[in-house]
Formats: sequence, C-alpha cells, structure tokens
Amino acid sequence: MTNRLYYNDPALDEFNSVVQDLVPPSAEQPRPGVVLQTTAFYPTSGGQVHDTGWLTTDANERLKVAEVAETEDGKVVHYLEALAHPLVAGTAVRGKIDRERRRDHMQQHSGQHVLSAAFIELYQIPTVSFHMGDDYCSIDLETASLKPEQVVGAEKRANEIVFENRPVRIRYVTRAEAETLGLRKLPPAGRDELRLIEIADFDLSACGGTHIAATGQIGSILLRKTEKMRQGTRVEFVCGGRAARMARRDYTALTEAAALFSAQLWDVPTQIRKSFDDSKQFRRQRDEALDQLAEAMALDALSKHPEVNGRKVIVQTFADRDISFAKLFAQKATRAGNPAVALVASSIDPPGVVFAQTPGGSADMGSLLKQVLTAVGGKGGGSRDFAQGGVPAGSDVAQLLKQAAGTIGA
Ligand SMILES: [Zn+2]
Repeated sequence: MTNRLYYNDPALDEFNSVVQDLVPPSAEQPRPGVVLQTTAFYPTSGGQVHDTGWLTTDANERLKVAEVAETEDGKVVHYLEALAHPLVAGTAVRGKIDRERRRDHMQQHSGQHVLSAAFIELYQIPTVSFHMGDDYCSIDLETASLKPEQVVGAEKRANEIVFENRPVRIRYVTRAEAETLGLRKLPPAGRDELRLIEIADFDLSACGGTHIAATGQIGSILLRKTEKMRQGTRVEFVCGGRAARMARRDYTALTEAAALFSAQLWDVPTQIRKSFDDSKQFRRQRDEALDQLAEAMALDALSKHPEVNGRKVIVQTFADRDISFAKLFAQKATRAGNPAVALVASSIDPPGVVFAQTPGGSADMGSLLKQVLTAVGGKGGGSRDFAQGGVPAGSDVAQLLKQAAGTIGA
C-alpha cells in the first residue's frame, strides 16, 4: 500500500519520494503509470476527483501527472503524460500538486460534509451519495421531495457553520469505537481502523478525502438546482471559488437580460412575462389581419374570374406569402358561396401547393395533388375537397398549377 501523506497533512503540496513500480500503458489507460513509495497526490475516490500536478526527477525532467487512481490493493498510481525517457524503479522524484485544483476540491468536499450535516440537523434527511463534477457538485438526499424553504434553510445553516470558522480535525479510531461515537454515516464493515473527519460540535463522519483545516476556508456554500431522482432528491451546490464564479456568471447573464429590457435585475422575470403576453397578443392580431387579408384577396380574385361550367377556377401563386397563407386563401375562395376550385401555391421556402374545391364539387383534389406531386417528387395528401403538399425547393410551382388546371379542364 502506498503511504498517503494527505491523510495527515492535507495542506502538503510538495514532497520527495521514490519510484517504486511502473504500470505500462493499456487499452483503457493509454498513459504510463508510476507508483511512488509515498505520495501527497489524491486518487479519485469517495466522490472526490483526483489531483493533478508534476513529478520532477533528479535529471530535472518535469513530468505532468494527468490522472491519479487507486488500485484494489491500495496503491496510488500516477498517470503521466508522454515520457521523453522511461522512468525506472528507484528514481528519486519531487512531487508537486496543482494547489488551485486541490483547494477547489477541498472546498467542495468539505462543503459537502457541512451541507449533509445541515440537512440531518434541520430535517433529519440523510445523504446517500456525493458527486463532484467539473462545474458543480451534487448530493443525493433520501427524501421524495424538498420544499424551497428547506433548501434555503439548509444553505443558511451550512453558511453559519462556515462563518463560525469551526476547526476540522482528523482522528483515527477502531471500528468498535466508531460505533459508539454516533457517526453521521458509518462506512460498510471491512476496515479495523477508521479515519474520522470532525467538524467541531457539528459533524463526525468517516472519510478518506482531503478537507480544509477550518470551515472558514470553504468560503461559502451556494445551493443550486434540486431535481427529483428515482430514489430521492438531488441537490446541486457549489462552494468557495466556484460559488463566486457561478454567481458572477449568473450576474453577467442577468445584467445582459436586464439591459435588453432597460430594467433592473429583479424586474427581469416580470419583463419577460410581459413580453410573452405582448407577443401572444401580437400573434393573435397578426392572425386576424392575415385572415381578413386572405378573405379580401379571395373575394377580389373571385370577382375577376368568370364562371365556367358552373364553377370558378382560381389559379394563384404567392411569391411573398407562405404556404399557410396560401391555405387560408384557398379556404376563403372555396367557401365564399359560389362553387369554386382554388389551385394555390407558395414559392417561398419551403414551397408547397394547396388544392381546394367548394365541398361537394365534381373534381378530386386528393388524386389531382397525387398526380402533380408524383411528377416532381413532393410529399402530401388530402381528401376529395382539400389537399396540401410540399414540393422540392426550386420547383416551378406556377407551372405545376397550370398542369393541374389543365387536368381538371380549366
Ligand atoms: Zn470527506
């Protein structure tokens, strides 16, 4: 087992060690791996993500540690980016951890302890799992739902613990001892010695992760989205530097939105609601206006066409109106009172045709459309009295209408 320096000194970020073993690249891990006698690098485990950093050899070769994992038998493997020279066992190295990244992980992980304990203290809701992502972290709580005031309450309590800057201590106890201490969560049996993380007078839990020395270093805890899961409720949160970055990002987005409305930040939801209502009203007005326009144009067209064989045939291509207007026009033209057939098209993208007749007319719009579409490779269909279809872009819709008119003898 690798001797893990972070167990007792999570603030340590530089150390001397010796290469103990090499792990050749494999299909699932293409990077070469190095096992050291002792390490301060944290391997991905217990919900906390691994450290990154550098190993420097005596020959002054600086090797980037890209990933750190632990093996089942307790070794810590440091996966390195491409090596100029192969390392050999026995080589002395100096390790250096990416401090910023580790600090971030300690803030998130320690914040999770505080938050989980706050949910227990206030609402007796236990945490079942913890996940640390690149942007945010989450805990899954054993509860079917959370009220907004519970979210706010837990956040407030957790931040109180942060502000009080309570000491965080590491203790080792036997399992038998741990069972008498009232741990927030007792790990599954297996180990005789347990590492406990104690937040003074607030939380005691068994954990192998890296934590800050006093709660003030968490900075702040910000709860974000809650989501119902199959078994429980997920709460997203961010701590410390992440909380500041997220708040900054939200503020920037909200400021942009407020500027669009020339409003204050807190008025943005009201402005958006108003804007939704306005656009709904404009849509209704536009639809009414289009309906009236289609009707006027249809009546005008009917008045200009003579009746032939007991019906009027209107053939009309719109170059500046879409297919839904063409449809409206066809409906108006065929329902104005006198028998009529309307063969209408729109040539704007996506182009289409509408064939309609006054209900009960002698032609068959459905089969007429089928003929026309088959010829150009379009799609659509309809009934005896009304049919509509789309034609490929660039089709000569006026020519298609002419053909259709010829077919029904107009
Ligand atoms: Zn922990």
